[in-house]
Amino acid sequence: MKKTEQTLVVIKPDGIKKSLTGNILTRLSETKLRILGAKVIHVSRELAEKHYAHLKDKPFFDDVVKYICGEHHGSQYSRVMALVYDGENAIEKVRKLAGTTNPEEADPTSIRGQYGRLTTKGLFENVVHCSANAIEAENEIKLWFVPDEIVDEIFPTRCVEESLKRRVWS
Ligand code: ADP
Repeated sequence: MKKTEQTLVVIKPDGIKKSLTGNILTRLSETKLRILGAKVIHVSRELAEKHYAHLKDKPFFDDVVKYICGEHHGSQYSRVMALVYDGENAIEKVRKLAGTTNPEEADPTSIRGQYGRLTTKGLFENVVHCSANAIEAENEIKLWFVPDEIVDEIFPTRCVEESLKRRVWS
């Protein structure tokens, strides 16, 4: 069944360190999906723990949180590129391109199969995150992006009045 949907893609710190950003974006462009949002950010522990909340009870939880925060790759690379893609069957298309979670079992031509590795500690360093289903995609996009960072109105929004201190160029 064809459905227009959105998905979150995160190029993880190993992808940044291995200078794979361009390669991954090129592979993703093969899908002909549209980019609705993109940014490079440092992932806070709070964001990482929320993002991986479903893995809270796994023995590798702390390691996977450290991994996406960039603690395994040096401060120079402790950043990720987060993207929102939109289009027909976006979730399935990106998951297929990314490959399965374990890079050693992933199709060798998939992003994870080509560029991922199993660390000596047994963590899957698999270069990219991509949403697994529509519910996760919506939750993840809302967790990683605020509405003004997305070019289309993909989910309902509301306005709130706030007097926030913010940084501006000096
Ligand atoms: P996916 O990223 O494919 O949606 P999960 O949400 O289950 O998979 O896992 C999140 C991340 O945790 C994976 O991308 C991988 O980096 C790591 N991971 C998952 N399962 C394992 C495992 N059994 N051993 C080591 N690392 C794992």
